[in-house]
Amino acid sequence: MLSEFDIIKKYFQTRAIGRPDVICGIGDDAAVIEPPEHTQLVMTTDTLVENVHFLKETLAEDLGHRALAVNLSDLAAMGAKPAWVLLSLTLPEIDEGWLENFSQMFCSLAAQHQCALVGGNLSKGPLSITVQATGLVPTGQALQRVGAKQGDLIYVTGELGAAQAGLRALKNHESSPLTKNFLRPTPQIEIGVALRNVATSCIDISDGLLADLQHILSASEVGAVLDLDKVPVCSAIELDDAVTAGDDYELCFTVSPTKTDRINFPASCIGKIVAEPGLRMLRNQKDYVIDNFGYQHF
Ligand code: ADP
Ligand code: MG
Repeated sequence: MLSEFDIIKKYFQTRAIGRPDVICGIGDDAAVIEPPEHTQLVMTTDTLVENVHFLKETLAEDLGHRALAVNLSDLAAMGAKPAWVLLSLTLPEIDEGWLENFSQMFCSLAAQHQCALVGGNLSKGPLSITVQATGLVPTGQALQRVGAKQGDLIYVTGELGAAQAGLRALKNHESSPLTKNFLRPTPQIEIGVALRNVATSCIDISDGLLADLQHILSASEVGAVLDLDKVPVCSAIELDDAVTAGDDYELCFTVSPTKTDRINFPASCIGKIVAEPGLRMLRNQKDYVIDNFGYQHF
């Protein structure tokens, strides 16, 4: 039987990439980091709890990816490049097969983004995974929810609703290529970085387009008119569901009309920011109402 320290070494320490700015990583009481000059740190954390955030039968490799991906998506929304990550695992038992698959996917996604696993915690209890990720932006260039201005255009990346369609397939025990969209979301890091000095505000779509855009509107103290006919919707799902469904982890952002030539990656213009507060929606040029605006925990 492996000790706690052997487990950390075998599954995490040996698989974590190094970075020159990590002075001391896994193995001491805490990590020591030397942040580069002229940068700001961007920090986020997210917890995945069994039966709340994922189904009991979810595979370890999917959890390993998702636990990190949702945190990296928050960094993407801020225009930050991932740099360091902490992982707190609460496990009901030591299952080496589970640990092998979890850590392989976790560490390979981290490596893909040059993100160093620098520490964490291991304890016994009902399965729960907490990740804390820190990223870097040049000073003053972080994207925020506040900043959208009247006249700005609203954009979204990807196709909405694909993750929700995948989750439905999982719940119905159907096989579908869209299950990947739910289980293995892609954090839009490169797009977040490309939006520095371009977007006036940005958010990642974790709770649904309407709910998340509403956060931009509240923070920026503006309103929006959305043209629902322009929203890219996954063909497996209805429009109303696609704009209220969570878990897509695409980016929604606003850009001044003078800077739209800087959007040199796939994104759809879906509306514009107006001074009058509230979110107005149009379909076939007519006002359209959707009552329920997306996922809330409480
Ligand atoms: P302490 O008791 O001082 O908090 P621990 O015994 O919990 O330290 O952990 C020993 C070392 O292993 C620490 O550097 C810690 O950050 C690291 N560590 C513990 N669990 C994990 C994990 N799941 N992933 C990565 N590193 C971990
Ligand atoms: Mg200690």
